[in-house]
Parts: sequence; structure tokens; C-alpha cells
Amino acid sequence: MQDGRLHCYLCPRHCHIGEGQSGFCFIRKNEGGRLVQLGYGRPAAVAMDPIEKKPLNHFFPGTKILSLGTAGCNMGCFFCQNWDISKAKADQVRAADLAPDDVVELAMRYGAPSLAFTYNEPTIWGEYVIDIAREAHEAGLNTVMVSNGYITREAFFDIYEHIDAANIDLKAFTEKFYAKVTLTHLQPVLETLRWLRHETNVWFEMTNLIIPTLNDDNSELKQLCEWVLENLGDNVPLHFTAFHPDFKLVDKQATPPETLHGARRLATEMGLKYVYEGNIFSDGGDTICPGCKKRIIRRSWHSVLADDVRQGKCKDCGTTIEGVFEKAEVERRRTDAHLHPVTE
Ligand code: SF4
Repeated sequence: MQDGRLHCYLCPRHCHIGEGQSGFCFIRKNEGGRLVQLGYGRPAAVAMDPIEKKPLNHFFPGTKILSLGTAGCNMGCFFCQNWDISKAKADQVRAADLAPDDVVELAMRYGAPSLAFTYNEPTIWGEYVIDIAREAHEAGLNTVMVSNGYITREAFFDIYEHIDAANIDLKAFTEKFYAKVTLTHLQPVLETLRWLRHETNVWFEMTNLIIPTLNDDNSELKQLCEWVLENLGDNVPLHFTAFHPDFKLVDKQATPPETLHGARRLATEMGLKYVYEGNIFSDGGDTICPGCKKRIIRRSWHSVLADDVRQGKCKDCGTTIEGVFEKAEVERRRTDAHLHPVTE
């Protein structure tokens, strides 16, 4: 900028960063007039997870996924469950040294077919995501973003061009909640979801963490489902998950299971085909065939106990189950990509 600050337009915060300072996310810093990203090659958390933990229930169910995240975040959620890294600066975490090819090598050594960019917001370390994803695709691995969806249109296409699947958090359906409890805004997240649906081939699912008294109102949940049906369609899996007291929200009770059961019932009755409950023990993690209504994937917490999907169809009635269940489908989506990057 004319005054010497740098304008980061990776996410809708549009930070103007002075010399020696960092943006809101902590890990993008103005060093001598250059914007540097301090999380590159320095993950603060690396773990092997079941893919159901992301959560993704329609993308290679029952497989492992090597997951990593860095320090920092572009949201300020009071209920963050990974606040020890998301609210830390790069020099306040114990980070590993992992170049993009080391990450891919690690996934292959431990037999994981996919990699997840997760734990904090991967958008803020987008350059590292892109470099890892390129190597991952060359090695035949799948790539997954677990994101809050707070990204600009310019950055969106640069990153999602390299991504096979995503889970996007829609944290509430009111601007008041986004402004007061996450320190961001709702509209950009809705736009990201629409871009994913209408301008990419990325398979995506959505998560809505329900917090008692803050976003558990039935009329809000109804509006959220109406918006999903109208803008994204009826086949986006929607995961209602339980909150537990953490970080700055320790005065709220954990989400009662009945709240999740009610939300799932409401969304299903409204016409969403795949609605799940998460972070509680229930049969709400099972996949129900929208045709014959049989339980075609049975789960216990994050484990798959039985899977009756065959080549993307219900084994019993042949109804198509939307998602990515075969390697050929992931390849088809990559080569069919209909991305429209903007250059303004
Ligand atoms: S990515 Fe970080 S530095 Fe860039 S605009 Fe967002 S919060 Fe600010």
C-alpha cells in the first residue's frame, strides 16, 4: 500500500500489515516489505485420524487420513476446541520440520490414502497447502480441506483447484453469532459454499456445531436448512455436532443429545438426504439409503462397522449414494474440473 503496509487479501479480513507486524491470524507477517507465511513447513499438529473425524462420511468411508495444522487462525471463535494452536503464534508452538514431500512420504509410509489440512484454518497457510496437495496428487493421494470457509474468491480458486474434498463449518445462521462469537461475518462463508457447489467438482460436506442458547434455536436451524436446500441442493451431507465447554465458552453446557436428534429430524423432514449427528454416541452417524431407507453404512463414533455401498450405490436397492467411494470418481472429478478462476 502507499503507506508501506501490506494488504493481505487471502481472507475477507483484508489485513493491512505494517512492517514487523502480523495479520489477525498471526502467521502472515510483514518482514521487510514482504508478506511471509510462518507456518510453511512447520505443522504444530500432525496425526493419523479416521476420515469420519473430519467429519467426512461420503468420501472413502472407513479410511485413514494424515491430518496436519499449524499455529494461528483467521477466526476468533470463543468456543474453539483447538485454541492451544489456533490462538498461538508460530513461535509459541512446538512445530515439526516437514517439507511438502515429507508430509506425502509420511502418509504413504503409514498407509493413508488421503491428507487433511485441518485443526486450525488451512486457508491462512494456503501456500503450504498447495505445495503439499500438488505432491500428494502426483503420488496418488487425495486432499481434503477442513475449513471455516472464510476465504476470498481470489484465494479460493488458487487453493481449491488442488483439493478433492472439504468439510466446511457453517457455525450458525445469524450474522449476530458470527460477529459476536467468531469475530467474522456470515455472508462470505455462504458465498464459499455456493462457489464449491456451483464452480468446482470438490466433494464437500458441512458441519454445524450446536451451542446451547447461542445457535440452537429451531427457527434458525430451519432457516439454515432452507438455505442449504435452495442454494446447494438436498445431497450435501450436514453434520450437527455437539459442543463441549472450552476456551472462552466454559459457562455454556454441553449440547444435550436431544438437541442433535431434534436438529437431525428437522433437517431430514425438510428434505436433506444425509443428516448426521457427531461428537455423541448415537446411531445418528449411520448413513441411510435415501431410496430404501436401510442403514447402508453403520458407524460407531468414528469407526465404520459395516458398509453396503457398492460402486456408489446402495447394495440392496441400487439407489445412487452421492459422494466419492471409488478412486475412479476422484479421478473423474479432477479431470472434469470446471473451475473459473478470477483474475481481477
Ligand atoms: S489470512 Fe491472515 S493476514 Fe491475511 S487477511 Fe486473513 S487474517 Fe489477515
